[in-house]
Amino acid sequence: MERIIIIRYCEIHLKGKNRSFFENLLEKNVRTALEGVDCEEVKAQSRYLVKNFAEEDHELIIGKLKKVSGIHSMSLGFRVNTDFGEIGECAVKIMRGKRGTFKVETNRADKKYPRTSVEISRDLGGIILENVSGLKVDVISPEHVCYVDVREDGNTYLYCDNVKGIGGMPVGSSGHGTVMISGGIDSPVAAFMMAKRGMRLSAVHFHSFPYTGEAAKRKVEDLSKIISEYSCGIDLYVVSFTEIQEAIHEKCPEEMMITLMRRFMFRIAERISVRIGSQAIITGESLGQVASQTIESITTSNAVVSMPVLRPLIGFDKLEIIEISKKIGTYDTYILPYEDCCTVFLPRYPLIKPKTDRVIEEESKLDVDALIARALENVEVIRF
Ligand code: ATP
Ligand code: MG
Repeated sequence: MERIIIIRYCEIHLKGKNRSFFENLLEKNVRTALEGVDCEEVKAQSRYLVKNFAEEDHELIIGKLKKVSGIHSMSLGFRVNTDFGEIGECAVKIMRGKRGTFKVETNRADKKYPRTSVEISRDLGGIILENVSGLKVDVISPEHVCYVDVREDGNTYLYCDNVKGIGGMPVGSSGHGTVMISGGIDSPVAAFMMAKRGMRLSAVHFHSFPYTGEAAKRKVEDLSKIISEYSCGIDLYVVSFTEIQEAIHEKCPEEMMITLMRRFMFRIAERISVRIGSQAIITGESLGQVASQTIESITTSNAVVSMPVLRPLIGFDKLEIIEISKKIGTYDTYILPYEDCCTVFLPRYPLIKPKTDRVIEEESKLDVDALIARALENVEVIRF
């Protein structure tokens, strides 16, 4: 009897000619996620198995696999030889300690095996009832299901519980995007959403030293590290935004501060993206959430870039975003105190519906190209 973890992937993306591409990518990502854990991963007919791990490591392994996009579900179980004596012993071991109602569900791929799937389920049910107290059969809505999978290669897998994976597509299957990351709640969630859809990620953060301190930067690093576990690593580009903000503050009307700042951020994010071969910008904007996220504000910032800007949270409410951030583990870091560069020189009455013509007129007072060039000269790269 051998302890195993069964990994099932999302079949829907694996149709047709691309199947092996997705499978190989997912296999590579699973290996990356389990690096440093003593175990072995093997492919086994449209699923993966993790084997040869220490008993006490199973929670650690499942925890890591829960962050790998493209995995539909996982189960902790056993492999035995297809021998009824061994299968029965294993079924008893799996069900021991459980209480309430149960059923056995068998899938027999090995049609040469002498018992049918219905017979296997019935006979194992009997063995479990004889050997485990406190259990009753309920085939309609049981509390526990003992799954038995009789494969064609002489192996049988048994397991009881299914742990949900994050689903989606394997990272690396949907191109490369640059997430604009702040220390807020939204952008890390936006990053997760795109990693889940298979996008490889890089990140850009703007900080305004000395207006924003080391702690603010560290918070963004911590959030990036959490995201990197979902995105198979992330390169964080930290850009100093101070000179740009001071220039806008000095030369342009106060109410346009945020609009102009955002146009600079988008331009710089696009330049960095082109440099690193990234194909899209990702933001945590949600329609109408704040003044800079009205459709007019979005229009004025989109106007300065030609790359697609992906806003996976555009239709989400704050509560929905909070829920995801708790699930992915960024919430606890997010609630720590933070100063964002957007709160420096914050106007009392920001423009809610900026007009592009007026924005361009005000922006012409600045040497946009020179400011951007200087910001790009000193970009710090931190790899997670
Ligand atoms: P978040 O919670 O992600 O900070 P927010 O609700 O505070 O978002 P804004 O401050 O208007 O909204 O920012 C909108 C988006 O712009 C953010 O989701 C993020 O993608 C990007 N952004 C804001 N500030 C920064 C920053 N300092 N560096 C990089 N990107 C930023
Ligand atoms: Mg913010």
